[in-house]
Amino acid sequence: MENETLFNEESEPPGPSTGLVAVRNEATDFLSLSTGNALPPLPKSKPERLYFPFKDSHRARAFRKKHYPGISRIEWYDWHWQFQNAIRDVHTLDTLIHLSDNERQAMMHPSGDLPVAITPYYASLLDPEDPSSPLRRSVVPVVDECLHTKGEEEDPLCEDADSPVPGIVHRYPDRVLFLVTDLCSTYCRYCTRSRIFGRQHQCFIDTAKWERALAYIASNTNIRDVLLSGGDPLTLSDDRLEWLLSRLKEIPHVELLRIGTKVPAVLPQRITPALVSMLKKYHPLWMSIHVTHPDELTPEMSAACIRLADAGIPLGSQTVLLSGINDSVATMTRLVHGLLQIRVRPYYLYQCDPIPGSSHFRTPISKGLEIIQGLRGHTTGYAVPTYVVDAPGGGGKIPLLPDYVVGWDKGDLLMRNYEGNLFRYPDNSADSKDIH
Ligand code: SF4
Repeated sequence: MENETLFNEESEPPGPSTGLVAVRNEATDFLSLSTGNALPPLPKSKPERLYFPFKDSHRARAFRKKHYPGISRIEWYDWHWQFQNAIRDVHTLDTLIHLSDNERQAMMHPSGDLPVAITPYYASLLDPEDPSSPLRRSVVPVVDECLHTKGEEEDPLCEDADSPVPGIVHRYPDRVLFLVTDLCSTYCRYCTRSRIFGRQHQCFIDTAKWERALAYIASNTNIRDVLLSGGDPLTLSDDRLEWLLSRLKEIPHVELLRIGTKVPAVLPQRITPALVSMLKKYHPLWMSIHVTHPDELTPEMSAACIRLADAGIPLGSQTVLLSGINDSVATMTRLVHGLLQIRVRPYYLYQCDPIPGSSHFRTPISKGLEIIQGLRGHTTGYAVPTYVVDAPGGGGKIPLLPDYVVGWDKGDLLMRNYEGNLFRYPDNSADSKDIH
């Protein structure tokens, strides 16, 4: 089944409910109801907020009418509804897609800590018939997850070893990763942090832990950049997220805030006008969006990204290279071109981290180099991400490039261009300065 994306959808006339619609107070914080942990206080009450609902795509509307006939368009575009109704069990998923025996077995006998959750919106993008289709493979488990191979580790990047206080990973001198939640609306089967999802006793949404992390950042004056990650920070309510951003903003040496999220791809309904008007108070605020495949670039995701970009938030993408999902020049070209159209600058292409049960996702390094070679020079420079391996053992991100340098000859640098043609450049190094 072909996915309906930004690039093949016919425009649809506005429906009667398109426009400004009042819905319930977003301050209702269902996460606090489920964690039982001490949380920052919420404002007492807030007036109803106004939402611009997204325009339905044909695909989402047909899916909703078929599988959720009692659910209104307004509920479907309410991110709380999407989050609370994420598909987590084999019986519900079986009613939406025709599960293969392999998928069914993996759903019934999970391995490891990574739960299953798929928002109804993202489920609408899955091919119901083909278990090998890209988006389906990225979120529906298969029994290969039980297969642990050489070199795989629970924490291959040794983040826990670089964690001076819970929730903080301090690897590079001037920046930290702040893991603010262990929740995602949809779980990717190749997640580097799959280890954290099973640690029920280590709930991240906890004021005491956040306070310790904030104190660590405040006491280290060399930290100028804080990346909020998790889990997915945009699963927090606006109020909790603002509480964190405002506390970070009070720290004089923190110059830059960043949020890493997959929400625009899996839960675009979360990108409400209220959220973006809150976020834009905390500039410079950057966002890295985890994107997997061009089939994710729907009208809904486009609207979400454009809304963020219009709020002045620079958007970059992060993509994990995945075998049989996005590991071809053609697929990656569609992805990066589509991202630029929705104002997201392709930022990183990651080699898949060797977490347990990831061998069916990992490609040879040569595949990543081939893709970069197939992009560089063949398309806009802005469209070419940096291909990196996050070095196992905690070495950090190491960029890899195809071999454009052939060598040196009589002081000239010899190199090949994107078409494979040989060129010389008069290198200005000491041993090339002979006068001819
Ligand atoms: S959204 Fe990010 S943190 Fe959540 S499961 Fe996917 S890769 Fe992991």
